[in-house]
Amino acid sequence: MTEPKIDSRRLWDGHMAMAEIGPSPGGGTARLALTDFDREARHLFRRWAEEAGCAVRVDGIGNIFARREGEDPGHPPVMTGSHLDTQPLGGPFDGIYGVLAGLEVVRALNDAGIATRLPIEVVDWTDEEGARFGAGCLGSNVFAGRRALDNTLALTDAHGNTVRGELERIGYAGPKPVGGFPIDCFFEIHIEQGPILENEGIQVGAVEGAQASTGYWVTVTGEEGHAGTLPMALRRDAMHGSARMIDAVVNVAMDFDPHPVITVGHLRVRPNSRNTIPGQVTFSIDSRHPDNDILASAGAAMRAACETIAEDRGLELEIEQTSHRDSVVFDPGCVQTIRDAAAARGISCRDIYSGAGHDAINLSHVCPAGMIFVPCEKGVSHNEAENAKPEDLAAGAEVLLHAILARAGRA
Ligand SMILES: [Zn+2]
Repeated sequence: MTEPKIDSRRLWDGHMAMAEIGPSPGGGTARLALTDFDREARHLFRRWAEEAGCAVRVDGIGNIFARREGEDPGHPPVMTGSHLDTQPLGGPFDGIYGVLAGLEVVRALNDAGIATRLPIEVVDWTDEEGARFGAGCLGSNVFAGRRALDNTLALTDAHGNTVRGELERIGYAGPKPVGGFPIDCFFEIHIEQGPILENEGIQVGAVEGAQASTGYWVTVTGEEGHAGTLPMALRRDAMHGSARMIDAVVNVAMDFDPHPVITVGHLRVRPNSRNTIPGQVTFSIDSRHPDNDILASAGAAMRAACETIAEDRGLELEIEQTSHRDSVVFDPGCVQTIRDAAAARGISCRDIYSGAGHDAINLSHVCPAGMIFVPCEKGVSHNEAENAKPEDLAAGAEVLLHAILARAGRA
């Protein structure tokens, strides 16, 4: 029996060719969704898929599906893919790898003359990054029924262009409906966008799930006053109180094991003048943890810490929860298939959690889904310096190939 083989060179060259479409000033990639550059990248993917013998179709939100037929065409397909759009200052691997690795799996099966029982579909999901129309994962959200199609088509960018208009302009407004058909399973391969695999010298992560996340606005109100005349004992300084709260909030992370990640990244100060005692400060909290209950406990601890400080300093406090996403657990069968594929190929693998959002999270609501991570240099992503090693990309694609084969079955 011929063994299919990932062509590391071909996979790498594909990334370099895609990276030329929408180059950014600092050597990265600037390919926002539904721009002329996105159209060019889509055309290239489409051409490569057709050259590999796939039938290509586009749905009503612009998702592109490249199908390698199975011996049993009536059976739901094994699906894989990610996205070709990037951040305004992005790199050549975030998303692109997931599409090109899927294509490489098809090419490797073709080269080895292997037919599969189930069809295989490689997908480019529309606008994963959310950098243009104010919401992310548009294509996979609509596909999974988690966003309405019409409302998504009506979203506008900063210049008033709609998703519908831009899809039509670039020639990727396919026929409705979107989704609504059965899928055997979905695998997405992606760079980790964090440092864990690289630090541990491990080539592949079997992603168990994605973290829960909760966001808050905290508003601390005191009273403005003259910086030179109001004695310290009489002040209600919203900045000083907030500084103590921020320190306490971030330290809450250390009280839980494993730690949640807690970030205070945005601050608004009233009146923001160097010689007025600040009367009001609003700061953001972004908190994430794989366990919903631990994240909720951390949220309660942050709230209690802020209340104690507010009372101590005579400040008013208002805490508003602005966002919440429950954690997602990927299908145990898909995760095990990924672990087994790595073990069978002698590729080092560890379980890992995703700190970021991905299309696979949406797909997990409509079919069994799993993700594979590979290391990227220093964990850097959403950055022009984003980089990865050809051998790691190839090892990940090898695991993807064998995970897909395990599900699709040799004919
Ligand atoms: Zn991505």
